[in-house]
Amino acid sequence: MQKGYPSLDEIHDRVDDFVASNGRIARLIPTAPSEEGRRVPAVAITDPRTPDDDKEVALVVCGRHGNELGTRTVGLEMLGFLAGEAAALIRGRLNVVVVPVANPDGCVRAQFHAPSDGLSPTEIAALVPLAHSLQPDAVVDIHSLGQSDIEAVITANTSPGGIDDRVHNALAERMCEAACREGFCFTVESVAGGGYNNFFAGWCYDEFHSTVFGMEVNHAALSPGQAGASGRAAVVGLLVEGTKTFTGERYPGFPNRVVAGDEGFAVRASGETAAARRASRASLWRAARGRGSVKRRFEDGVVVCSAAVPVDEPLEAALSCRVRVAARRIAGVTLSGSEVKWEAVERPCQTDVFVDTALEGDGIVEMRITLSNSK
Ligand SMILES: [Zn+2]
Repeated sequence: MQKGYPSLDEIHDRVDDFVASNGRIARLIPTAPSEEGRRVPAVAITDPRTPDDDKEVALVVCGRHGNELGTRTVGLEMLGFLAGEAAALIRGRLNVVVVPVANPDGCVRAQFHAPSDGLSPTEIAALVPLAHSLQPDAVVDIHSLGQSDIEAVITANTSPGGIDDRVHNALAERMCEAACREGFCFTVESVAGGGYNNFFAGWCYDEFHSTVFGMEVNHAALSPGQAGASGRAAVVGLLVEGTKTFTGERYPGFPNRVVAGDEGFAVRASGETAAARRASRASLWRAARGRGSVKRRFEDGVVVCSAAVPVDEPLEAALSCRVRVAARRIAGVTLSGSEVKWEAVERPCQTDVFVDTALEGDGIVEMRITLSNSK
């Protein structure tokens, strides 16, 4: 094995030391053991002064493949960063959960030791329940290349519907830029259909509509310290975006709330808190994926948006529509014929109009936005 990479026992010792000496911000989340009975520690790091319900949740999973040595230092490096002063904003706005070794049975063998066609028994036992409890807003699944000098952010696992490709590509660029500022060069790759072994991230996307990335650090061209620092730099680039409000969004956090439609008109998650929006997103996504349809047209100064998202039980949702004018030129907004309260987020080129509603049955709604002629 390449020199300088920690063994499973060393990683677990350092994780335990970290939690013991950072008790104010760090705790271990109980997880089921691996197929062969080894621990799979998951460490949550967050500022307890902000209520958990007001925070986005990010899940960083390292070491699905036991021979990918570069992953062994990324999780430890993440923990060190997240406890430091530079992570104060992230701790205040996010709950970050780090799994330093997702495949301990492969780690002790220094072998791949995972199925190449789906989740492993260890992932199903330890990580799937963890993800169900977190409903993560963002997930990064970290791998490491040993046969080349490439590092990559992987945008596979999303669908071309909605705004997901656009969002994931934009965030991937920011991750690369963050790593570049520290001297680490990542490419952005979409290897959908190309055999990329990134099932956990894909599963989280399918289940919760999480913002998901795969990542390849590198243990051929980089030292253990560099491999850890490079992965940390790129992941932190993503976490920082989760503290901001993305273009066209009404709330801060990861821009994963559109479950049907696009920038012009969308059905999206709603809720006053991050936790409420997270639950709304997962429920709506399960209902809408592949079944929801939206239409938008413009006639005689009125933007008419209609959606049909069939639901098995009533679900809170929000509608968003982009208009080409400033908010002061919006004369009124109706939903199924009745005037409704609306909220506007303006930018120089347009205004995004948001309306809260509830979907029932066939989930048919029609929103009409009347624009005034006055300047
Ligand atoms: Zn891998």
